[in-house]
Amino acid sequence: MARHTETAEGSPEPAKKAKIAGRARGKGAGAKAKAFRLADVPVDVFCEIATHVLPIDLLHLARTSKAFRRVLMRRGARHVWQAAMKNETDIPVPPMPEDMAEPAWVHLLFSHFCHSCLKKGPHTPFWELRLRLCASCRKEDECEPVMGMHHALADHFDYDFEGDIGAVGVFEVMPVLSKGEAQKHTLMFGMHNYRNSDYKALERTLRRASIKERTEIVLARQETMKARREHAFRYLASWDLKQSHARSYDKHQIKLTRRKAIVAKLRELGYGPEFDTMTAQERGEFGDMREVAQFRPLTDRIWLSIKDACIEFMEEVRATHEDVGAVPGVRGWDGSDVIDYDYWKTQARSSFDPLSDYESILS
Ligand SMILES: [Zn+2]
Repeated sequence: MARHTETAEGSPEPAKKAKIAGRARGKGAGAKAKAFRLADVPVDVFCEIATHVLPIDLLHLARTSKAFRRVLMRRGARHVWQAAMKNETDIPVPPMPEDMAEPAWVHLLFSHFCHSCLKKGPHTPFWELRLRLCASCRKEDECEPVMGMHHALADHFDYDFEGDIGAVGVFEVMPVLSKGEAQKHTLMFGMHNYRNSDYKALERTLRRASIKERTEIVLARQETMKARREHAFRYLASWDLKQSHARSYDKHQIKLTRRKAIVAKLRELGYGPEFDTMTAQERGEFGDMREVAQFRPLTDRIWLSIKDACIEFMEEVRATHEDVGAVPGVRGWDGSDVIDYDYWKTQARSSFDPLSDYESILS
């Protein structure tokens, strides 16, 4: 009986097949040689490889084929996701809420497209909803803002409630479109918009329930929302801020590298003395030029298309310096930031303390 090996593709294959493929390669029979495919790797080896990738890559892999999906979306693959999340060392992945599964958690944190219409992102995460939504999907389902103090369940719904259950705020039992800053007093004042679909779902649930069931539903939802808000406030707001700082930093690096490359090109063309004597204002104007301040690397083709505008700017600087005399600038300026961006980045990160207001969240 032939020995079988379970592969990531999911189909058992005779073990001797690998030997055949190996022999074919050895003989140089290119047409017969089997190309290496990840899907042919035994499942345990595949899972071992998968523990070394980043969580977003694991998610992409799980979406590439039904076979990968089957392997990665089973409960037995939880350790793979957990290991992949530990590979995010620059900005560690925040602790996962107990009621979520790893793939859903990775999807929420790292899939930046709109989770409703799939429009390319990045789009705002709404932690309470556990969704990222584009502006139009958000607007389409968003309630009209209703400010005021009448947000108790009894103000909204004409049902009977036990005891003081009717006094519970409608926002205490329903997610709002916030990024994690919802606090008890702002919720009670109706300062956060919600989705009409969530409101209608709540209304339906309460309408169908008996008075006793209503109490159970409200208390359970209150607990759930409190835990979600607490988690969002404690972990997600600061994690998201760090992420957006890192994204802006990466974009800034691209812009900076482009500016430096343009300065080097212009220095080669003989504008070194002008750069050495540029005032801070002239450096600022140069850096703000539409042709310079772009988040795209400089290529030969781009340089050809922007060269004339850059030369024109440098000629103006040269003429001004000849007219009014050059002042000593930053000698050897290569296009670097004069303000230390790293310093500001560190400052921005350290000045955010998610726990400073923590006491004011749902008490
Ligand atoms: Zn959308």
